[in-house]
Amino acid sequence: MRATVLHAPRDIRVENRPVPVVQQSTDAVIRTVATCVCGSDLWDYRGVNDVAGPTPGGHEYIGVVEEVGGDVTGIKPGQLVVGSFFASDNTCPNCENGYQTSCLHREFVGGAQAEYVRVPLADGTLVHVPGDAAEEYIPSLLACSDVMGTGWYAARAAEVKPGDTVAVVGDGAVGLCAVIAARELGAERIIAMSRHEPRQKLAREFGATDIVAERGQRGAARIKELTGGIGADAVWRLSYLSGNACCPSTISVN
Ligand SMILES: [Zn+2]
Repeated sequence: MRATVLHAPRDIRVENRPVPVVQQSTDAVIRTVATCVCGSDLWDYRGVNDVAGPTPGGHEYIGVVEEVGGDVTGIKPGQLVVGSFFASDNTCPNCENGYQTSCLHREFVGGAQAEYVRVPLADGTLVHVPGDAAEEYIPSLLACSDVMGTGWYAARAAEVKPGDTVAVVGDGAVGLCAVIAARELGAERIIAMSRHEPRQKLAREFGATDIVAERGQRGAARIKELTGGIGADAVWRLSYLSGNACCPSTISVN
């Protein structure tokens, strides 16, 4: 099968690799329908992170299930599925508390920029999309494989409640998805911190009520000003700082 392999910074190749097979009884192998390039893939590509030898790329994927292991009960061959970039059993105490990325048995799902992907812990990791998903929904479903889930996680971890005022730092895909999540969870005021006009426009479309272009102390001062000196109920930073890509940090400025 064809798959991308990163050999060194700025040296990515499409190569022929073996089709993955079921290795554990809880695995599934899917035929990829769509995959993409995550912002965090670019850190490896640009040499921000070390690349320890040839590494298959990609971790965002949707596909059709080809084969499942003997202990997989909820996912069946032929189903269209969306998967997470962290495999999780969805049954351990951390999963039951809603923190699937901290699953006690988690495994990173890499090598998704390929025609087939092996997904461990298939019952907990894959979500079946019922019915026939129209072509036009494929990009949106693909967003559920990482950026939407990550933005949603940030809002959930911050315990957003109806009526809250929240501030979202970062206007990339995850930040914008966090704006959607805050809106869905009922936040009344959503302050998006963004300096880019096209992103500001999207943030407003997704539910942001205010845009703050200032950063650092001036940004914090502007939020205080907008909230009558109180500050936001929750603030998320969803931008790259120190190699910890998709993981939002949640802080309160109250
Ligand atoms: Zn778990």
